[in-house]
Amino acid sequence: MTEFLKAPKGTFDVLPPDGQELLRVRSVLGEHIQAAGYSYIETPTFEDTSLFVRGVGQSTDVVSKEMYSFTTKGDDDLTLRPEGTASVMRAVLEHGIHKGALPAKLWYSGSFYRYERPQAGRFRHFSQVGAEAIGSNDPVLDAELIVVAMDSFKALGLKRVNLLLNSLGDSSDRPAYRQALVKFLSGLDLDEATRERAAINPLRVLDDKREVVRAQLLDAPVMTDFLSDHNRAHFDKVQALLTSAGIEWTKAPHLVRGLDYYTRTAFEFVHDGLGAQSAVGGGGRYDGLSGSLGGPDLPSVGWAIGVDRTLLAMRAEEVLAQQSAVPVVDVFAVPIGQAASDLAFDIVTALRRAGISADLAVDGRGLKGAMKSADRTGAKIAIVMGERDLEQGVVQLKTMETGEQVSVPIADAVSGVISALKSAPGRKSL
Ligand code: AMP
Repeated sequence: MTEFLKAPKGTFDVLPPDGQELLRVRSVLGEHIQAAGYSYIETPTFEDTSLFVRGVGQSTDVVSKEMYSFTTKGDDDLTLRPEGTASVMRAVLEHGIHKGALPAKLWYSGSFYRYERPQAGRFRHFSQVGAEAIGSNDPVLDAELIVVAMDSFKALGLKRVNLLLNSLGDSSDRPAYRQALVKFLSGLDLDEATRERAAINPLRVLDDKREVVRAQLLDAPVMTDFLSDHNRAHFDKVQALLTSAGIEWTKAPHLVRGLDYYTRTAFEFVHDGLGAQSAVGGGGRYDGLSGSLGGPDLPSVGWAIGVDRTLLAMRAEEVLAQQSAVPVVDVFAVPIGQAASDLAFDIVTALRRAGISADLAVDGRGLKGAMKSADRTGAKIAIVMGERDLEQGVVQLKTMETGEQVSVPIADAVSGVISALKSAPGRKSL
């Protein structure tokens, strides 16, 4: 027997009806971001490997362990993008967007790839929607992005998304914190690999998910005790703006995020129904990213929301819309015989062009099977056309909910359907 091929490990297919909900997550997020003045940008799904090494940081798990990197036939070192911000910044610098009006407010949506150990909510291929405000220091942007994300979650019906908030400082105050943290870490019982990681970037150790490490970090010094006046004022302002927008949060002094480029405001959106992989999204300021890619000083802030995890959160809260397995249409054509099938095609095409959703039975399906399909699509009106109808130059318009049937001349089929739809009752059974 032939064995069917399966999707690669750590990946999955989104099947109907979940596909509809996935689209809805993307479009609700997109609409909210766009309504806040962000424009859509699309970048390639692979980039030069050095972009992520320089942008995301050598000491991160993402770069050191999780990249899908390969050398092309032309000897280029490329990587399937593990995240979106470095690519957006690359595009901004490459095309001189930063030389125009700032901030440049951009958003994206697409596939991302990380060679992670697959588990619930953690995949090797996943989907994100992200937003970035590039070229401004204003805390209004940090707050605006957080509010847009929280409002989007609410619009999707989610009530249990919690905002975790921290500030990571920057080059003005982080060195003092770093020193205090290094001193603290040197007194802990850590394995060799963790020590090495601490030597490159001690903040990374705060992100360690293992219980043996976490237990030792409870008393670790926190960045917010070291913030400079300037960064303290920025963080206070972000919090004041969030309060004014009615957004609640939890202070998370050990939140560092998985990517090296973050400075000052850092945040995560977590959901309590997802188990260990609780983050539905996260982001923060990355004032140094442009510089590390060879660009000018461009303070920026952004977030990325995991579309797949948002869907899992919606399932956990039971707010996924009850979708039927096939898209709902208003009209379903049921032709019996070849000549009727050609006519059905023409009528359905005309209806679709008139902006009416319509589908039709194919493969010469018999009346009973075709009516079953009409029922499954939730159509309000079925257009039934048999040989005898054609001989008489008519089609039958059947109101699905009541079973009522009227015949109309073929030439009036489209206008007849349009007026029948106006008075047809909705489908109660759906
Ligand atoms: P990050 O870029 O790591 O901050 O990721 C932003 C968001 O993308 C996370 O909060 C998750 O919702 C989602 N995400 C990141 N990695 C994965 C993954 N391996 N599988 C599924 N979702 C992910």
